[in-house]
Amino acid sequence: MNSVSYKTADDYIADGHTPMMAQYHSVKAQHEDCLVFYRMGDFYELFFDDAIQASAVLDITLTRRGKNQGDEIPMCGVPFHAFEPYLAKLISKGFKVAICEQTETPEEAKKRAGYKALVTREVIRVVTPGTLTEDTLLDARSNNYLTALCAVGGAYGLAWLDLSTCEFFVQPVTEDRLQGTLQRIDPSELLIPHSLRDHEEVSVFGTKLTYQNEPAFDYENARKRLESLYNVKTLDSFGAFSRAEIAAAGALIQYIERTQKGERPHLSRPRQIAADAVLEIDPFTLKNLEIIRTMTGERQGSLLSAIDRTMTGPGARLLQSRLSAPLRDVTEINTRLDEVQALMKDTTLLETLRSELKRVPDMERSLARLSMNRGGPRDLTALRDGLQQAEAIRAMLLRTQCLDAHAAALEPTHALSAFKDHLGASLSDSPPVLARDGGFIKPGFSAELDHLRSLRDHSRKLIAELQTKYAHDTGIDSLKITHNNVLGYFIEVPAKRADKLMVNIANKDSDNPFVHRQTMSNAVRFTTPALADLERSISSAAEKSLALELEFYTKLTEECRALAEIIARQAQTLSALDVAAASAHLAIDWDFARPVVDDSLAFSIEGGRHPVVELALRPLAQSFIANDCDLSPAQRLWLLTGPNMAGKSTFLRQNALIVILAQAGLYVPAKAAHIGVVDKVFSRVGAADDLARGRSTFMMEMVETAAILHQATERSLVILDEIGRGTATFDGLSIAWACLEYLHSVNTCRGLFATHYHELTSLQAKLSTLACYTMQVKEWQGDVIFLHSVAKGTADRSYGIHVAKLAGLPAAVIERSEAVLALLEQEGKTARITKPGSELPLFQVPAKPAPPRISAAETRLASLDVDALSPRDALDLLYELKQLSKGSA
Ligand code: ATP
Repeated sequence: MNSVSYKTADDYIADGHTPMMAQYHSVKAQHEDCLVFYRMGDFYELFFDDAIQASAVLDITLTRRGKNQGDEIPMCGVPFHAFEPYLAKLISKGFKVAICEQTETPEEAKKRAGYKALVTREVIRVVTPGTLTEDTLLDARSNNYLTALCAVGGAYGLAWLDLSTCEFFVQPVTEDRLQGTLQRIDPSELLIPHSLRDHEEVSVFGTKLTYQNEPAFDYENARKRLESLYNVKTLDSFGAFSRAEIAAAGALIQYIERTQKGERPHLSRPRQIAADAVLEIDPFTLKNLEIIRTMTGERQGSLLSAIDRTMTGPGARLLQSRLSAPLRDVTEINTRLDEVQALMKDTTLLETLRSELKRVPDMERSLARLSMNRGGPRDLTALRDGLQQAEAIRAMLLRTQCLDAHAAALEPTHALSAFKDHLGASLSDSPPVLARDGGFIKPGFSAELDHLRSLRDHSRKLIAELQTKYAHDTGIDSLKITHNNVLGYFIEVPAKRADKLMVNIANKDSDNPFVHRQTMSNAVRFTTPALADLERSISSAAEKSLALELEFYTKLTEECRALAEIIARQAQTLSALDVAAASAHLAIDWDFARPVVDDSLAFSIEGGRHPVVELALRPLAQSFIANDCDLSPAQRLWLLTGPNMAGKSTFLRQNALIVILAQAGLYVPAKAAHIGVVDKVFSRVGAADDLARGRSTFMMEMVETAAILHQATERSLVILDEIGRGTATFDGLSIAWACLEYLHSVNTCRGLFATHYHELTSLQAKLSTLACYTMQVKEWQGDVIFLHSVAKGTADRSYGIHVAKLAGLPAAVIERSEAVLALLEQEGKTARITKPGSELPLFQVPAKPAPPRISAAETRLASLDVDALSPRDALDLLYELKQLSKGSA
């Protein structure tokens, strides 16, 4: 896949390879980074290392085929008619696959170059994780983004597109937000120049990375490529893109051109996502809060899976993209919320809308396939059904005067109505997947087609009559007329009864119409001139009718391509309706509320819940205890203490999730919520190490905390759970102490800080907007009951030993722990650290960081030319420096 020159098949023949192997090697040389699926008859064959790797991954037999320069050739194959599951497995394991097809028939090859000619083969497509379009290879409810990243003059640009839906985006990004933004996009494949190979924020994407040569990211080439793709003189009308964004977008297009071998998808215009348009969720938070996937990578158990009530694949994809990129624009958020509210007000409309949506097929993906010549009749019927549903839904919205903007967006143009009518009039109800199989045009649509079909079917009837006649004439009732791909139609009689016909043939009986074709072990096959005539008329009628059907198919796909933009808009409108209806349905079912989202710094949640924990408690017949959270300016930072297992983490997370849902334009699990729009959500919850990058659990905790303290603003929401627990008590307490002060006085963000260091509560007296809250518990007959409710105040105990008992630690260990605890408390060891507030100075907020002091020794060193020093001078200098450093000490 590079633009260097490669050895040709002739070169390989000159090296002593057979013509076929020479052809294979010349293809492989151009696709070294791929496994080559080399079409031979009914199989895609793989050779050499490709075969060894693929057979291991696919668990299929590795065989040998002839010899290549004296060595046996390892080979394995997958059937052409059912190759997709194999392909899917290879792609999921990170392989790229070049599909090398026969581009002429053996007959055509013979005509071209004689009897021994090798059929020509070409790579028609390179399948990579980021360029999939087949439903069988894709998750209907998730996007599949191919992403490119590049740096131009220190600025970064991102471009990403989903080839299966033709959506295309660009975004400028700063280095510190690189990983977070990439995690949000969640690329299936990430194209980067070799120069970014060692970039720490990028290398974490490991197997998803595809390296491209630097020219692929050249700005001028990229600009020209985009202008040619969209057939415009300048990109100015698309938006003010940075050079890095254009360079990244150009690299994407070049990759598409190379992998799709010239098939150009009907990509939407690149939509720019402004850097500050999206609520930033840093990579740790996206993972820790389990928004799209759980920590172990599954969808089940995530926030998304708990709230997803969408009826269509495209709706599910839109919901996912809204959840991973909530907005900051208050007007846009409220427009989305208005839609949900409108549907909640009319539950009859809501239910009918949802049942109509259920019948909407995935028009986006069908459209993308058709625009790349990879579609089939079923993609056309998907458009037919989708557009029909769009019409029905529009009528419904108009009747109820609800969601006018969506009704207007669904209004078909004249051309679209005509296209829909063509689809409706021409396509049969359940067409085949592939156009080449024919039979997808409705009877009655074309008189010519009907005529050819009746000719074909009539001839079939004549064959049945011929069979009866021959059985009667020969007296062989088991005589049959059947068909196979090699002989075509033939008459078959059991070997035992064939003698009679053979004798007639041998005697040249003039009345005998039978001609011998083939002798099998237990049957003999014949033909007759009448059968041959019929066969000719059947196959010519079938050929003609298929050709006619393919003509209709081409016309319809051309019409579809011309209307791609408007069809895509209709599909997007239906997805937006699906998301609004899903949120309305959920809000009614689970009693969610419309959040008030504005530009203030308010944060007040009444009766908030954690939707995933609540869902998990349902089967246990346990109810979730709702809690309030008020981080208004007077108490914007909460210090939350409370026993283990009391619900601190749940409370922290639920408030962050409520912000994310609200700013995604969705209703929230609360009685009421007022949220002054948040710019970034940060979290330090859960513990995980990153051993691959040499980071211990505690190191990870500190890395994440550092990111928060550096980046959180007054508008951010920060949740910190048990900072400092991974190290020695005093170290941990000191770190937690300093972090809390910093958040309060420097970041001045809204935040929740959960801890078991009860000593921190003394900070309340010194930090004006810090408020202490605790999770309530009750002690009853020696047991601890978790109430899971949050109240003002502080906890004095953690009941850790109680939880250890619940977890089943051996009784002896529990007993011993209790004794040690009693001893420690008695000896007052803990007393030493219970009131450290007076000794520890508060975090001092420097007005401006003081410039670093430069010592005389450092000044002297800076002025030195080391290379010009003789050994003697160097020794003198050491004495001098020693003297200088004493002076500044
Ligand atoms: P630890 O300090 O040990 O980490 P924690 O205080 O953070 O504990 P959580 O992990 O939040 O406690 O909650 C423990 C369990 O309590 C949850 O898994 C859930 O089953 C239950 N729980 C938490 N909050 C609630 C609630 N509000 N209502 C009902 N059950 C809850």
